[in-house]
Formats: sequence, C-alpha cells, structure tokens
Amino acid sequence: MNRIDNKLLAAVLLGAAAMLSPAAQAAVNVLACEPEWEALVTELGGDKVKVSSATNALQDPHRVEARPGLIARTRNADLLVCTGLELEVGWLPVLVQQSGNARIAVGQPGHFEAGSYVPRLDVPSKLDRSEGDVHAAGNPHIQQNPHNIALVATALAKRLAEVDPANAAFYQNRQKDFAARWNAATLKWEALAAPLRNVALVEHHKNMEYLVNWLGMKVVGTLEPKPGVEPSAAHLGELLAQLQRQPAKLVLRAAYQDGRASQWLSERAKIPAVVVPFTVGADDKSKDLFALFDSTVQRLLDGAK
Ligand SMILES: [Zn+2]
Repeated sequence: MNRIDNKLLAAVLLGAAAMLSPAAQAAVNVLACEPEWEALVTELGGDKVKVSSATNALQDPHRVEARPGLIARTRNADLLVCTGLELEVGWLPVLVQQSGNARIAVGQPGHFEAGSYVPRLDVPSKLDRSEGDVHAAGNPHIQQNPHNIALVATALAKRLAEVDPANAAFYQNRQKDFAARWNAATLKWEALAAPLRNVALVEHHKNMEYLVNWLGMKVVGTLEPKPGVEPSAAHLGELLAQLQRQPAKLVLRAAYQDGRASQWLSERAKIPAVVVPFTVGADDKSKDLFALFDSTVQRLLDGAK
C-alpha cells in the first residue's frame, strides 16, 4: 500500500468514525405511543432526548392509522415508549414491522412497555372475546393514577440509561428530581380529592378504572354495552332505568370520546357530564403531567358538587 492509499484509508476511517461516534452525543430519538409517555420522557430526558408521540390527546389510542410520517418516525426511533397491555395491539406491531427498525422490536432495550411496571386492574380470569374488546393482560388505561406514573418513571429512567449509557447519571438525577416533585403533587391531589371518595359515576368506556380506583370513586355503569362497542339506544335506556334505583353523581368521559351518549344520559338522569383530559394536551391547561392531574381533579370536583 503506498502513502496515498494510506492517507485515503485514514480519511475513510475517520469519516466512518465521525458518522458513528456523534451518536453518543446526539439526542436519543424516542417515539412515544401516547402523549402521557411523551411528557414523561421529556421530564426524565430533558435535552438529551428528542421525543414525539404517535397519537395526540384527541385520538383514540386503540385505533391509529400507520401514516407514512409515522412510519418514518418509527424507523428513526432508538426507543419506543408505549403502554403495552394490548392497548396498541391493533396498530403497533404492524408499524414496527413496516419500519424495519430492529432496535425497537419486542424484547429489545429499545422497546419499553409502561404497563409492565404497574399493578394491573381488570385482569380477566378467562378470556372471552364475545365480551367485547377485552384485554388479556388487564386494563391498559393506566396513566390516570399518579402512583403508576411514578412507577413507570423509575423504570423508564433506567431504560433511558441503558439505551444511552453515557448519560446514565443525568437520567438518574432527573428521575430523583421528578419523583420528589411528583410525590408532593400526588399528596396535594389526594387531599384535594378527598370529597370524591365513594362518589358513584357512569363512564363511557372502561378507561377510568385506575383513576376511580385511586380516588375511591365507584363505577356503576358504562355507556358502552361492551368494551369497544359503541353505546346503543337499548343499552342507554337500560342504564337510565338502572340509575333510578342506583343513582350516579356524574357521567364521565375522556376528551377524545364522542359526547353524544354522555349528553343524552346527562339530560335524562339530570347529572352533569364531566370530561377529563385523560392525557397531556387535551386542553389548554393540561400542558404537562402535573397540569393534567391538576385539571382532572378539578373537573371531577366541579362535577361532583
Ligand atoms: Zn380500552
């Protein structure tokens, strides 16, 4: 090999190294499935991460279309942060497969499922699909209990450190700081929400269980006859009759859900229809996780007056 070839080789190697090494400094690309995880990644990752969400707060997270823009974001992701528990079963496996990104496949460090880190509600003793959209791993709508958020935050900070070891200490410090502020806020919400204990309500879909369980409220009916099945006139009629015997204080739905069935019942049962943001970004106030819970507790208190 002559000198020129050696120089050329050195230049090529340097170029390759330059292409590989900045990955250590560049922000970790994170794709969240839902806005609450995007917000949590921001809390823990700060400027070390670049994060976006596959869905917005006004979308039904069970049903998402794999648009080209979303496929491109999936292809570039170093880390996928989703709920799991079959919430995204209708769209995420296809999306990951189409992206051809092996780093975020199930079982890889780049695949994080929040639902694996929380105590689950509604785990069916036997799986009967005739009962509607029943999730085998339990109820996947875990984000409306702040204790779940705290558990997920601990696991997620560890995962960020695993995917980006150079900044492990940074993620650990952010998590500690977040946990302190979050625990204080949780105590505040629990004190404020004390009057909600034992308040009976009707929900639209079985997506309020963790919120209701946290605050000691009671679900006495759902607008959907079965999970994932739209409210029908017959079912609403029965529900109205049932409320004569077993009254509810309010009818509750998430911001992404259609309000017609809720309104129908509200007018006839003479109880307020309450909308909670459900996730970050659903209204002007709910800009981050703290504001999401501020707003949720306030809406419930206003509705239950
Ligand atoms: Zn659901």
